[in-house]
Amino acid sequence: MTAPRHLLSRLRNLRAHGAAPLSTLVQLVASELVSEVCSVYVQRPGDILELAATEGLRQDAIGRTRLRVGEGIVGLCAATGAVMNLPDAQNHPAFAYRPETGEEPFASLLAVPVRRSGRTLGVISVQNRTPRNFTEPEIDDLETVAMLLAEMLSGSGATDGSPEGLGATVPRLFAATSLMGGIAVGPIVLLRSARPAIRVLADDPAAEQRRLDQAADRMQRGLDDLFADVPRNGRAADVNASREVLEAYRLVASDAGWLRRVSNVIQGGLTAEAAVQRVAGELHDRMRRISDPYLRERLADMEDLANRLQTALSGDAPLAPLPEGAILLARRLGPAELLDWHARGIAGVAIEEASPSGHAAILARALDIPAIGGMRGMLDSAEQGDDAVIDADEGQFILRPEAEVHRAYTRAREARSARYAELAAWRDRPAVTADGVELKLMLNVGLSMELPQLARTGADGIGLFRTEIAMLARGSVADVAEQAAIYARVLDEAGDKPVMFRTLDLGADKLLPGTVSDEENPAMGWRSLRVGLDRPALLRRQLRALLLAAGGRDLSVMFPMVATVTEFRAAKALLLAEARRVRPAPGTLRVGTMLEIPALMWQLPDLLREADFISVGSNDLLQFLFAADRGTPSLYERYDFLSQPMLDLIEQLVVAARPHAVPISLCGEAASRPLEALVLAAMGINTLSMPASGILSMKAMFAQVNLAAFRPVLAAIRKGGGGTLREPIATWAREQGIVA
Ligand code: PEP
Ligand code: MG
Repeated sequence: MTAPRHLLSRLRNLRAHGAAPLSTLVQLVASELVSEVCSVYVQRPGDILELAATEGLRQDAIGRTRLRVGEGIVGLCAATGAVMNLPDAQNHPAFAYRPETGEEPFASLLAVPVRRSGRTLGVISVQNRTPRNFTEPEIDDLETVAMLLAEMLSGSGATDGSPEGLGATVPRLFAATSLMGGIAVGPIVLLRSARPAIRVLADDPAAEQRRLDQAADRMQRGLDDLFADVPRNGRAADVNASREVLEAYRLVASDAGWLRRVSNVIQGGLTAEAAVQRVAGELHDRMRRISDPYLRERLADMEDLANRLQTALSGDAPLAPLPEGAILLARRLGPAELLDWHARGIAGVAIEEASPSGHAAILARALDIPAIGGMRGMLDSAEQGDDAVIDADEGQFILRPEAEVHRAYTRAREARSARYAELAAWRDRPAVTADGVELKLMLNVGLSMELPQLARTGADGIGLFRTEIAMLARGSVADVAEQAAIYARVLDEAGDKPVMFRTLDLGADKLLPGTVSDEENPAMGWRSLRVGLDRPALLRRQLRALLLAAGGRDLSVMFPMVATVTEFRAAKALLLAEARRVRPAPGTLRVGTMLEIPALMWQLPDLLREADFISVGSNDLLQFLFAADRGTPSLYERYDFLSQPMLDLIEQLVVAARPHAVPISLCGEAASRPLEALVLAAMGINTLSMPASGILSMKAMFAQVNLAAFRPVLAAIRKGGGGTLREPIATWAREQGIVA
């Protein structure tokens, strides 16, 4: 067991006498942590970790022992940013033996990354002969030393600020995930690149606590102002802006738990800044280990708040104006931060750790900012002011593009804006093919902030309102009144356009915080309507909320993941029972089902007698038809919607539904793809529901299509059988000038 206060006061004394050499620091840490060895490795250009100081290993290894990031325990610690606590390091599979260090006698090892502003600067480690696990307080102590060391190293220039050294002017291309389509070309602004050095150790915890309280107050007031400003900051789409996301954020902001943790760290002898940084680091580590996307979002919110608190502690410096077309580069970005940057006029954002379902992505879509995520190493390769291109349509990030590439993208961005302006003219026109077939193009939405898209695109209604999305954004299922308010807002906004509400489709990849699935195949597990039928109170509450929201207006409700007619009947019975209780009754009540599970195809006679409409969920249908996980990118190309089995299924469905006059629509991603939409329309599916970004271009495309001419072509292509039918369909569409 160690004496942390003692270690801290000795470190404080050391700092008081000016910059302490690393050699003194390692001696002190080794003696205070009762370890035979303490070593500091510093990261050098080219991802090399160099032994810079040691107590207990051979001194002539200093400057000679070098490991690549990822090599050995120390390299692994630097690469993953994780603390390594090993009783028997030499038998760890990653152990890399370096004879010049003389480390054979030492069994146990504790290695802690030295990080600053999300960048790894090095590693500090301690070793002992006796095999043992280091205790939590010991880990805490070494983490405090690592923070101190981070400030020392970044101040001394011991690490090269330009991670790529001489290579830093070379263009680089990163593959990225598109979070919101579009192109941005401009200079890079690095998030928090210029965070000033902080003091780590404090003499007076009470004073630090007061500073923390004041800063937390300032931060809360700043957030209130920021959120209150949202309607004035943005355009129509922002006006309802992201209410659910921001509400979720507000809940996290008012959660006292993490602030208490910061206070505890302050009591341990750290400054308020260092304590906030420590807690942010802990949150970051927890985030790495959690796979549940929504829980990760909550933690990301907390990390964002920790950064705000840090800013509030350092006194809010006035913000310099952004250069024209600036692109923000961040490791992570919280929703409030994105609002800040949007207000400052950012033209595009690239976020290393972001997923399409994350809060930043949801907001980027609402704010219409081109955004990409998920490209590792990008931030470490970029410098403030470097030129960059975000091509969120193709999922690319180009750092320091050649002049010609820069010009080409500038032209592409201008052409895109011009095309958008042109497409806007389609807003008020109906979707009709060249041979006069009328189509209904509807929207898939899930958050009220997306509702202005109805007016912006001139869509015919909402073909899929995913009710679970708002619940996921707020982190829990809302009560009846709150749900009714959400659904009523949707109906208000839609006016006399139809809305198809889908009941909660939770489970699989859509888990509420705190719920974990231990099933082997959650996509085929206890999810969606299965949960609703087993927990009828939950489903009933939602159905009541929908009926209350309708308040006498027309209401359409559909159920997801229906596998048997019996399930559909049971769900419909719950709805009808609720409908008998709620007054005023809806004008009309239409009850439909999603078709996502192939088994329904063999129950069509009964289903078509009992369902008022069927909406094909092609995302899940494709996954279950081909037994191919929709979340596994390597399988995306392997099975095609445009294939004989899928098209035969669609045809059988359309033919079976015709005598019953049951409308069939399709609301999966396939609806938004030109070739798929073309084929569906040719096969008689005239209602397609898709994300807002597809509507205008789809109207423009259909205006050029002669479906009567395409039908015999399609029939001939389908006779060809085989796997995918995409190529011959694309060839015909290209010949007609329908697609590029
Ligand atoms: C589908 O499965 O096609 C669908 C529309 O539902 P979700 O994507 O929400 O699962
Ligand atoms: Mg589905």
